[in-house]
Amino acid sequence: MMIIRLIILVALVGLLIFAYRKLTGSGQSENKQANNPAAMKKCDQCGIHLPQEEGCKHKDHFFCSNEHMQAYLDQHPDERD
Ligand SMILES: [Zn+2]
Repeated sequence: MMIIRLIILVALVGLLIFAYRKLTGSGQSENKQANNPAAMKKCDQCGIHLPQEEGCKHKDHFFCSNEHMQAYLDQHPDERD
């Protein structure tokens, strides 16, 4: 009798793992999310981190706002175009 319970238990655990993986998605979709995170960039003027699409870029530099880009360029005239 014990061996039958053990087999049922193993089958149930296997079924739970299968259902869990199906619900949470395969490893492929997890990798897809990891490859496409919200790209956080650091403002070269104040050091704050924010998503890339919310700031502005100048050459290799990134800034949280136009004001900080302007302030940075005022301090680093050689970085201007
Ligand atoms: Zn800033």
